[in-house]
Amino acid sequence: MGRIILTGDRPTGRLHLGHYVGSLRNRVLLQDEGNYDRMFVFIADVQALTDNADNPEKVRQNIIEVALDYLSCGLDPSKVTLFIQSQVPELHEMTQFFSNLVTVQRLQRNPTVKAEMAMRGFHEGAENDNQRGIPVGFFTYPISQAADICAFKSTTVPVGDDQEPMIEQCREIVRSFNATYGPVLVEPEILLPSNLVCRRLPGTDGKAKMSKSLGNCIYLSDDPKEMERKVKSMFTDPGHLRVEDPGKVEGNTVFTYLDAFCEDADFAAWWPDYTCLDEVKDHYRRGGLGDMKCKKFLINVLNDRLAPIRARRHAYEQDIPAVYDILKKGSEAARAVAAATLHEMKDAMKINYFDDAALIAEQAAKYRSL
Ligand code: ATP
Ligand code: MG
Repeated sequence: MGRIILTGDRPTGRLHLGHYVGSLRNRVLLQDEGNYDRMFVFIADVQALTDNADNPEKVRQNIIEVALDYLSCGLDPSKVTLFIQSQVPELHEMTQFFSNLVTVQRLQRNPTVKAEMAMRGFHEGAENDNQRGIPVGFFTYPISQAADICAFKSTTVPVGDDQEPMIEQCREIVRSFNATYGPVLVEPEILLPSNLVCRRLPGTDGKAKMSKSLGNCIYLSDDPKEMERKVKSMFTDPGHLRVEDPGKVEGNTVFTYLDAFCEDADFAAWWPDYTCLDEVKDHYRRGGLGDMKCKKFLINVLNDRLAPIRARRHAYEQDIPAVYDILKKGSEAARAVAAATLHEMKDAMKINYFDDAALIAEQAAKYRSL
């Protein structure tokens, strides 16, 4: 069986360092190693509307931002099919069929959806317009995500660990579909970053997840000044008041980011007092190492990683119509693949009334003899 990779992002804002280490960096590696049959990356505008129905303009504006972030990170449209979810209507037809295979109770148990509802202030018991009830579309988005994955018979989904429950739910849907109608769909595997801290990068405020919805992000497209300002105000160890005090590395966001981004070669380039991150951590734990020195080093490391991304973004920004054209061509190509899968699904479900000469003949014979 071939290896087919699929991932996507919601166009609810520009992409940030969490996206980069959680999924984007892996995608570019997978693309370059070429050890796969096909790779799809998509902008999930339909999913973004599930909790932004009143703000379609936000979604519309951010489609180009996400596309620019993809291209600037090095996703290459000659190797990867980049598409927009709404432009592949077959996905929504699949979602409808999948909905019949999932219970409300199963959706209610999904821990990521639970956490996201709490974060957005959606209440289960909301009874009047002052409280925000749960939009049905948002509640059921794991089902539509399963359709996104299954439409391309994806085997591999490179994502952060907040997506684990979604992939598990998708696998259940595949098993249920195949057992009920016949073996059409493929169970996907999650591909998490090997570096543990990258699976869920915290925000600059130290909160568990850097997320557009929490306003604690460093964006890939932040200019060096903005990035520096954010790093300087970053959460560290609140008990590390004076330089001489022993400091905590665990839960200290600066060290988490260094774990995610820095390499030994960075020390020779910007901090020759040390040869590796463990030496810095030991010094910080002992006391005598100030936060600002660590932050300055992190700024250098991040600027080094972000410089080529910023340069590529600038180049693509000069030809926006070409970026839309990439998305249009990718959407057409993706649609052809999704249509073929949907056709197979409907055949298996026997929703092929007009193509099934045997059915028509059987019905005709039945009624003729009455
Ligand atoms: P929103 O708040 O609108 O949901 P988000 O910041 O959570 O936005 P998504 O578009 O939902 O971003 O996530 C896209 C991909 O990026 C997913 O694969 C997700 O696992 C990954 N991702 C998002 N945030 C992080 C993070 N902080 N650390 C690691 N991976 C992340
Ligand atoms: Mg999210």
